[in-house]
Amino acid sequence: MDTSILDIDAKSLTLAAKLISGGDIVAFPTETVYGLGANAFDECAVKKIYQAKGRPGDNPLIVHIADKALIEKICLNVSDDAKKIMHSLMPGPITIVLEKNGKIPDCVTGGLNTVAVRMPSSPEAQAFLKACNLPVCAPSANTSTRPSPTTWKHVAEDMEGKIPLILKGADCQVGIESTVLDLTHQMPLILRPGIVTQSEIENVLGKKVGIPDKFDKSMNSPGIRYKHYAPKCDTYLNTDGDREKIKKFALSLEKNVGIVASDAYEKSFAGFKFFSLGNTVEDGAHNIFKKLRDAEKQCDAIIIIWDVKSEKADSVFNRVIKSCGGKTF
Ligand code: AMP
Ligand code: MG
Repeated sequence: MDTSILDIDAKSLTLAAKLISGGDIVAFPTETVYGLGANAFDECAVKKIYQAKGRPGDNPLIVHIADKALIEKICLNVSDDAKKIMHSLMPGPITIVLEKNGKIPDCVTGGLNTVAVRMPSSPEAQAFLKACNLPVCAPSANTSTRPSPTTWKHVAEDMEGKIPLILKGADCQVGIESTVLDLTHQMPLILRPGIVTQSEIENVLGKKVGIPDKFDKSMNSPGIRYKHYAPKCDTYLNTDGDREKIKKFALSLEKNVGIVASDAYEKSFAGFKFFSLGNTVEDGAHNIFKKLRDAEKQCDAIIIIWDVKSEKADSVFNRVIKSCGGKTF
């Protein structure tokens, strides 16, 4: 299949909307990561997403909307907590899980009776969703298990030849996926951490919000089970920033090792290829997937240093611990 890669303008948006309503799939930018979208009401179109990504069928998709009124059309009841989140944090990098009505097919929700909904804040994503004028379900536009795509070039690396259109927008500002908040229990639960933190959500809801332990079976978010964000080469994570220990470990690998870390580490690793995550936690989130994709092209082993501990930093930790498949030191 030929893949068109087009700047976002009236003409490409019209084409994108035509493809979506005709049952095809389109990659588009959002403020979190690039998404791979299909008409959420069209079972055949949704199946094309799973096929293009090689995604397990029980890993549900997030339904993206440009108009909050659409939430009522796909969910059974929009609770007071949902209304508070919609009012204060939407549009933005947060997804809410609600009970679904019968309109959303099971293949969107991995057979669950709930549906995840998000309203992106990026003007490019909103323009795309408005042009489509229907709910668009979309996971990240990468091959399953690979680092998520935060530039159109990442999407092209994984999806060229597999999908008809990539909308070529700006690099994603946030850089990691949305916070997923389950509102179907007495206590709201964060199923996936993101740049919107537990305390921000607690402030909005005026009550405690839980983060389930990853082995807690009540946590009903199948996506969390699978391999994620993995570069093509061996990847390790250091969490204490001990420079001498990291250097010793890097040399012991006897490979072309790349260091992915914040600017503060650059001088200490002069003999290595260095991929900067910037200075702040927000920079780290913005850069992490891009730097992993850069590093895998130039190195045959990667060491990530992520030693920051804070609520926002934990959302990046959640990604890098998966990138390295749990190989920490
Ligand atoms: P991705 O598309 O890669 O951003 O992944 C979507 C994430 O949302 C995965 O972690 C899913 O498990 C989660 N998710 C989507 N729908 C639901 C749902 N109905 N209930 C719980 N988690 C969901
Ligand atoms: Mg993903």
